[in-house]
Amino acid sequence: MKLLFIGDGQLGQMLGGSAISHGHECLLYSTRTEKVKPLSAQVDLQMSLTDAIAWADAVSWEHEDIPADIIAAAHDKFLMDPARIKSLTDRRAEKKLFDDCQLPTAPWKSYHTETELQRLLEQSDYPLVLKTARGGYDGKGQWRFKSGDDAAALATEAGVQSGIAEQLIPFEREVSLVGARGKDGSVCCYPLITNVHQRGILSYSLGAIDSVPEALQRRAETCFRRLTDALNYIGVLAIEFFVVGEGADARLLINEIAPRVHNSGHWTMTGANCSQFDLHIRALTGMTLPELRLEPTLMINVIGAEKIPVGLWHHSDTHCHWYNKDARPGRKVGHVNVRVSDRNSALRWVDQWADKLQVLAN
Ligand code: ATP
Ligand code: MG
Ligand code: MG
Repeated sequence: MKLLFIGDGQLGQMLGGSAISHGHECLLYSTRTEKVKPLSAQVDLQMSLTDAIAWADAVSWEHEDIPADIIAAAHDKFLMDPARIKSLTDRRAEKKLFDDCQLPTAPWKSYHTETELQRLLEQSDYPLVLKTARGGYDGKGQWRFKSGDDAAALATEAGVQSGIAEQLIPFEREVSLVGARGKDGSVCCYPLITNVHQRGILSYSLGAIDSVPEALQRRAETCFRRLTDALNYIGVLAIEFFVVGEGADARLLINEIAPRVHNSGHWTMTGANCSQFDLHIRALTGMTLPELRLEPTLMINVIGAEKIPVGLWHHSDTHCHWYNKDARPGRKVGHVNVRVSDRNSALRWVDQWADKLQVLAN
């Protein structure tokens, strides 16, 4: 097949690599430079976006903020409604989707003006997290508020843009479910992944390491089915959850969804017979979704560092990925997957390497 992906960042590059290894032809379109990038040798180097859309059998994306002109021009090449997916870039639409699907999420309210936000802060009985409705990622565009804080000052700062105020959840840990829904409605999910964030940015993920209580996995997969059925979704999608409580009785609250491949799924490039990128290609091209075989794998993000230390490239248990981006504090520039035997060995790797690989100051 001929596949066009909107976005040429690391996710687009990794999707493109998978598409080619499956025997497809592939183009990436950079929404930043507005240029088409061929990943297959047989494609014309000077193609315009219009030509690329005409060339493609199917259009997919690495990020869901798809420009309106592309949605209009490529509407018959998307496998699902891209306008519906783009609407999820507004947190209000995203939270409403969870409510409409009757799925548990942190209680929330939206605000549109500074005055409305100030009233909301003053009347709140619990600590809040404010999030801008649009454009937030890696914890940017968020503020915390608790009783005793200066509501007027925060409203002046955060109320410049509309957003949501949601309850601060005292969670035990954060997990994500990465999975795919195929063209025939079948679903294939990896086990819940444990994620550790620092200053709002994903620091590391434990894939197929923690034994996940069956009931918890089932509950997460029910959320996945309900959301992807409601969206008539095809491809990989990730759900981020807060885990409240412990063991099989733990509750899962949905934090947010990413309708695409996701950073917390990068461990599957090393720890699974089918990576999340391969899974997305399989779903898009109508292949049967696989039976997953998994091995415990740690994924450490490389954030703001100039390079990955040579020792890690040479180690036989690691699989290093460099995104070829300029290093800036807080910017994801690569990741390192490590084959581990168990949680303790994963945490020893984190202790030894996370600080060296992460320049988080902003
Ligand atoms: P991403 O890069 O994952 O898209 P984002 O900027 O969209 O990040 P969120 O995932 O909403 O932001 O929040 C970032 C982190 O902040 C969460 O992973 C969690 O650690 C913390 N956080 C967000 N909302 C809450 C909440 N309601 N209660 C407690 N912690 C929260
Ligand atoms: Mg997000
Ligand atoms: Mg998040």
